[in-house]
Amino acid sequence: MSKVAIVKIENKQIELAVRKAIDLLGGITKFISNEERVLLKPNLLSAPENKEALEKIRTDPRVLEALIKLLMEKRSPKIMVGDCSGVGEKGGTKEAIRKSGYLVLEEKYQNVEVRSLEARGPVHVDINGKKLKSATVAKDVMETKAIINVPKMKTHSLTIFTGAVKNLFGTITGGDKTRIHSLGGTLNGFSQCLVDLYSFEKEKIKLNVMDANVALEGSGPGAAGKAVKMGLILASEDAVALDAVAVTLMGIAPEKVPTLRFAHEQGLGEIDIEKITILGEQIIDHKRKFKFPKSARIAFLPFQRFSKILQRYPKYKSGCINCQSCVKGCPEQVITIITNKKGEPQPRINLKGCIACYTCIEICPEACYGYESRTLRRVILVFSALLVVVAALITFLVLFLR
Ligand code: SF4
Ligand code: SF4
Repeated sequence: MSKVAIVKIENKQIELAVRKAIDLLGGITKFISNEERVLLKPNLLSAPENKEALEKIRTDPRVLEALIKLLMEKRSPKIMVGDCSGVGEKGGTKEAIRKSGYLVLEEKYQNVEVRSLEARGPVHVDINGKKLKSATVAKDVMETKAIINVPKMKTHSLTIFTGAVKNLFGTITGGDKTRIHSLGGTLNGFSQCLVDLYSFEKEKIKLNVMDANVALEGSGPGAAGKAVKMGLILASEDAVALDAVAVTLMGIAPEKVPTLRFAHEQGLGEIDIEKITILGEQIIDHKRKFKFPKSARIAFLPFQRFSKILQRYPKYKSGCINCQSCVKGCPEQVITIITNKKGEPQPRINLKGCIACYTCIEICPEACYGYESRTLRRVILVFSALLVVVAALITFLVLFLR
């Protein structure tokens, strides 16, 4: 039976909460024993300069530090903290690391190295999943036998939720992320790619520790989302069960999230809360009603076949600083930066080519994008076309059949 520990952070003591969560699961040596190298995989994303935004977006370095201390108490393996951030450009992860506050860990602990998983390049591997057949996974990941997955509790504009399973997308190097977004195309397609990747890397994932201290709701997982104070640390050996508990705490049923539903159907983890042993705090005492992204609401509709009609698209609001992240990160290359009438930079999206993957919303450090519904426009177009046909028919009847 899968076990998930839920621990409340008392008096801002994050380290104590991480220790307690892992103790509840049986202690760190149950998961990491003789490994020479351990990779801590946080959720870094595009790490903005703004401290408030940083807190809600990336895994808190104090969670990583608690894990480092725990690992060093028992033995002294080489510990690497690494990610390929959401920024689809060369050097983007390095820049995100600089802003993240993680580099202090390297200065403080001798056997800790913080680095971009892009640094040593990728290895092309066969995934042989249902949808994802191959990928370029970071060499550091392929050479590591033990990974502690350290995600953050957040909503996600495309996949509804990002937690332990989705966090592993950061083991794919930059350029291939955009290809996989295109390959996935839809919510279900992309979610299946994530599950395929999780299935491929599952053996290496020894433990999952989720930073649910400051979580994120709304247009996640980037700067456009809003911080939610949860004050929790969650941990589990089963990434899928951990995510199932996390989304239940956020107020939705695990089976509504395609990554979790597909992972469960493939036998990769448990999502039935009744079949998961909860250790520590009880779900009912911390359950909230998170606001999920407007774009993700279609996933809750019963008729998924027609969901495309209701699809929302990214829409520029304001505040562009011409950082080019969305231009480089867009898998379909449909964004260009123009100069508007006020002489300011502004992204222009060719919506004909947009696959509504929301990468632009995710990685924009300035929260410049919102959503646009094209449903009304489509309905008006269809009705207009119908009216024209009916009018033409009536004219024909009046003129020729009199
Ligand atoms: S414009 Fe945005 S939502 Fe559309 S394909 Fe590009 S990154 Fe994805
Ligand atoms: S819209 Fe955002 S991500 Fe795109 S160029 Fe402007 S600031 Fe950068």
